[in-house]
Amino acid sequence: MTMATMKLPLKMYILILLGVSVMLYQYSLSSVIAFNGAPLDGADVLYRGTQNESMGHEAIKSGARRLDVAMALPVTTTAESKLPMLYIITPTYTRPEQVAELTRLSHTLMLVPNLRWIVVEDATHKSPKVEAILAKSGLPYTHLIAPMPEEFKKKKKGPKPRGVSNRNKGLEWIRQNAKDGVLYFADDDNTYDLDIFEEMRHTRRVSMFPVGLITKLGVSSPVVRNGTFAGFYDGWIAGRKFPVDMAGFAVSVVFLHRRPNATMPYKPGYEEDGFLKSLRPFEPKEIELLADKCTKILVWHTQTKKNEPSQPVDTSKYNNTNILTLKTILV
Ligand code: UDP
Ligand code: MN
Repeated sequence: MTMATMKLPLKMYILILLGVSVMLYQYSLSSVIAFNGAPLDGADVLYRGTQNESMGHEAIKSGARRLDVAMALPVTTTAESKLPMLYIITPTYTRPEQVAELTRLSHTLMLVPNLRWIVVEDATHKSPKVEAILAKSGLPYTHLIAPMPEEFKKKKKGPKPRGVSNRNKGLEWIRQNAKDGVLYFADDDNTYDLDIFEEMRHTRRVSMFPVGLITKLGVSSPVVRNGTFAGFYDGWIAGRKFPVDMAGFAVSVVFLHRRPNATMPYKPGYEEDGFLKSLRPFEPKEIELLADKCTKILVWHTQTKKNEPSQPVDTSKYNNTNILTLKTILV
């Protein structure tokens, strides 16, 4: 072998080695991007952390936890930061199940990029337990209070307008603080497939999608025939123009700004219908049909069994024990 022929395979060796390492590096990046269909990365964690109105070290810690999950690889966030912002309005109130419900919902929302969680308590004071969950999530959040007006609260008979004062308060915050993006009413006790957030993110006016576990029919959804809107499927039509569930629609913030009078009425059973009608001019045929033309159920109207408030603890028997600490967590 001459010197010239020796040199060639060596060069080729180096080239192949280089090529393989570039390929391996790209593969490791793409596996992060593929995580849940949306890029997750360190810069995003930082973004979430710095966006918080109040951020304790708990938030930083949970941010770090997300970073671990995403394998801490440096990926650009450009694509993610260009996504339309989601404003998730969650009404909530103090009860034995509240901390459990909000913990679960926070863990869902922590997996969604470009989102602000607007949590509105039906209460006269902000609950430190709710605040702690929000801070720990590492999400950008807004914590508000909006008690149900006394006239409805003291009502003895019939259903109450649950979560209405809260949702209107959230709408008011969006009107004052958001320019664009999409808003969605996410009750604290429902179950959300992550895909629903990516579906609704590009809503131009009002989008709708099926909601599972509603009435005897099992699902509430727009009816789609030959690819177009053909009515509503819901177990309780009750003369409603929009017989849909609270979890079944999302609204563009730009669209909301163009309807300055849109609000949710204190009318049990007619909250969705009243709100959607207040978005006039807007007709059912204009609805954007999501979830593959309403063929998938990506949100479920789950209801948690009601629990009795816990009984007082025997303080003489459990003095100087963990039980007293545990009791402070319970309602
Ligand atoms: N809610 C509230 N105040 C109340 C009752 C309910 O803020 O007095 C909230 C609750 O946390 C939930 C939403 O309003 O996010 C809807 O209430 P609920 O789940 O009880 O209604 P349902 O799903 O049974 O219609
Ligand atoms: Mn509910």
